[in-house]
Amino acid sequence: MRLPEAWIISVGNELLNGRIVNTNLAWLSRKLILDGYLVRCALTVRDDCEDIVMAFRLAVDKGASLIVSTGGLGPTFDDMTSECLSKALGRRHVLNEEALRMVEEKYARRNLPMTEHRVKMAMMPENARPIYNAVGTAPGVMVEEGPTLILALPGVPSEMMDIFERVEGLIRSRAPPMSYVSVDLVVRGVPESEAAPLIEEAMRRFSVYVKSHPSGQELGLPILRVNVTSSSPSEEEARLNVEGALRLLSERFRERGGNVEEAQAHSPGSG
Ligand code: ATP
Ligand code: MG
Repeated sequence: MRLPEAWIISVGNELLNGRIVNTNLAWLSRKLILDGYLVRCALTVRDDCEDIVMAFRLAVDKGASLIVSTGGLGPTFDDMTSECLSKALGRRHVLNEEALRMVEEKYARRNLPMTEHRVKMAMMPENARPIYNAVGTAPGVMVEEGPTLILALPGVPSEMMDIFERVEGLIRSRAPPMSYVSVDLVVRGVPESEAAPLIEEAMRRFSVYVKSHPSGQELGLPILRVNVTSSSPSEEEARLNVEGALRLLSERFRERGGNVEEAQAHSPGSG
């Protein structure tokens, strides 16, 4: 089966001087594979408009089905991804009214006025669609260029993930149907901070995406709901990956004194 091709563009000087590790790339690659894409290429560029334009142009010209960028959506002078995306597409960079309302609402809630720098986060390529950011202030930018869907996300990982998951349904719907298997574990007595490396191990060893949702108290009686998802054109393969990851996680949590049970099945279905 021929999979649609995704390109990932990471923007930021700090990624190219060794100050931070590109965890957004790792997270997005895994997500996009589970969503039914071939991740064909990842480009990392500095906060430099000429290079940002080059990266978007290359991906569009090579016929990417999907381009996801991270970084450079904030209010400061070195945040220029949206403006450079407009340049790459040869479109006007305009004030998006819906984005403006999203940004205004964020600041009004904290009784802060709109400034030129805050309005900048509502400037987008003509005909773009803003995607709500529940964690931070800058909305994501979604725009179509011929057969290519382009999504520009902020660099802060929690914001990037929040916005991506808001449009993941659309991203999946543009890829061939996959079978999804999803199982939740409820783990009592293991703090999320201790669970993190176990979850990373499960993601390294199996083709799964694992997300933990804490409730209870990190230092009292922590309760974690751990969601394990896999997808594949073959349902059998998705199921085997989820089962393998569940076995590994249950064993590891129990070694740490956790009480583990499988929660009632919930499946996001296929497609
Ligand atoms: P902000 O509004 O905070 O400026 P932004 O969209 O402009 O958001 P950046 O300024 O590019 O994002 O990055 C903000 C922070 O997010 C960085 O300092 C870094 O800590 C983190 N970050 C950025 N890109 C990545 C990445 N690819 N992987 C991991 N962390 C990243
Ligand atoms: Mg920034």
